[in-house]
Amino acid sequence: MTDNLQHYVTRAAHKYPERVALHDVSGRTTYADLESWTNRAARLLRETGIAEGDRVCVVGAKSSATIASLVSVLKAGGIYVPIDSASPAARVARILDAAEPGAVLVDASATSLVDALIAEDRLGTGVRIGAVDAHTTGERFGTAFSLTATAGFDDRELAGTRGGDALAHLLFTSGSTGAPKGVGITHRNVLAFVEWATSYFGTSPDDRISGHPPLHFDLSTFDIYATFAAGAELHPVPASLGLDPRGLARFIRDRALTQWFSVPSVLTLLAKFDVVGEDDFPALKRLLWCGEVLPTPVLRHWMCRLPHARFTNLYGPTEATIASSVHTVVEVPETETEPIPIGVACDGEELLVLDEQLRPLPPGEIGDLYIGGVGLSPGYWRDPDRTAEVFVPDPRDPRERIYRTGDLARVGPGGLVDFLGRADSQIKSRGYRIELGEIETAVNAVPGVKECAVVGIPTDGFEGTAIWCSLALVDGAELTGAELRTAVRELLPGYMIPARWEFVTALPKNVNGKIDRRSVRERLIDTTREAG
Ligand code: AMP
Repeated sequence: MTDNLQHYVTRAAHKYPERVALHDVSGRTTYADLESWTNRAARLLRETGIAEGDRVCVVGAKSSATIASLVSVLKAGGIYVPIDSASPAARVARILDAAEPGAVLVDASATSLVDALIAEDRLGTGVRIGAVDAHTTGERFGTAFSLTATAGFDDRELAGTRGGDALAHLLFTSGSTGAPKGVGITHRNVLAFVEWATSYFGTSPDDRISGHPPLHFDLSTFDIYATFAAGAELHPVPASLGLDPRGLARFIRDRALTQWFSVPSVLTLLAKFDVVGEDDFPALKRLLWCGEVLPTPVLRHWMCRLPHARFTNLYGPTEATIASSVHTVVEVPETETEPIPIGVACDGEELLVLDEQLRPLPPGEIGDLYIGGVGLSPGYWRDPDRTAEVFVPDPRDPRERIYRTGDLARVGPGGLVDFLGRADSQIKSRGYRIELGEIETAVNAVPGVKECAVVGIPTDGFEGTAIWCSLALVDGAELTGAELRTAVRELLPGYMIPARWEFVTALPKNVNGKIDRRSVRERLIDTTREAG
């Protein structure tokens, strides 16, 4: 078994040089070409000064060039940090401040963001900007470095010296105090999952695999490295198809994909628009989802339409690398309300349902879900306090760690674990992991806001959970919902912006004098029921 992720590409290039590794809108890239491109680009990165363990931020759409640049960073000995180019400059600047990158790699989709960062002088000193594609000219940013201009560089194998327990990438997720937090993921974390998954799913060189989740989501790591591990084809889904149900269905059909993997909201969208025909997608062997609950009626729809496919629920947080448990649904659920278990732990991982004293609860009882085993991240980037809060010593062996997910669960019949929601204020909306606290911090920063409560409201829509904000203004302040929206857009990505604003004179408080978010949420849910 290999010790580092970049070796998957080298191995596949030896075994299947002429097979297609990546197929995006710009065309097909073979394994031989990918290997040579990434070796050259890695040498260029070294020449620009990237040294062992340096962070390299990558701001780009999901494309063959961007994915190849991630592998190049690993070969150069770096740690890559994928960043959402749709995030506002202020949020990206906080990530850059935390990551302290040696270089930032960008594609054409990132130009306005980088312009804004440069204009506000938020890029950091000495940071070099490199282009990952031929369409982005480095000159625009006063730098001439482009990963596509590497003709003079040696393309022989460059293994990279980092692997095993060294960090491969940092993934920044929403943080409850307002600042995104960086989860460090090692080569070994990803290798363990990929080795299990390729064997469990029987991934082969004949597979054509979807790449739907954006690169800053850890689910994309599975698409990329499981594809390369198997010598299969990865088909990055163009961002323009993101919310276009007909376009997405056409993409699966035209590319004859054998595996589709996405967050449930995408499956809900396709079901709602009824774009999948009877026995559609004849090549599709498996359909996988992860990240939130897939509503049972949506699963029934898909299973009835595609009786030839295998349906698998994967569960897990970024902090435990891609997914930690699995449940393949064999029979179409009998009722619309039958919950779908998150199942059993993947190889090398463990799910534990514990009480407040970290004692195991008997089957059937609801408790906190902890995860142990090979997927556990070493922790949050340069944040030992936050790490120690949630990665706690395993009571059975304090030398080992377990991760408190914040999820509630129980062990159900047959040892299958059921997911029962969150114990805190993290939500999922359209598949995005959101700390409501991050939104509240942004709203509270708007001049004129006295106090606010941001809550998640369940909906029948594809977003799953809608974000609403109830707030009180300081005396004499005047603000409209539209003005608030404009103000927070400076700090939050679009998917975090509340869909509704409710103005009140004061928010309800609990006995400790804290804002009673539960009662705000319940009242808002009741209002929608009455309105509906
Ligand atoms: P993320 O770090 O974005 O992967 O989010 C992790 C959280 O998403 C978990 O702690 C759960 O709350 C939720 N989650 C992930 N997978 C599932 C699933 N299959 N079913 C229900 N919730 C899930």
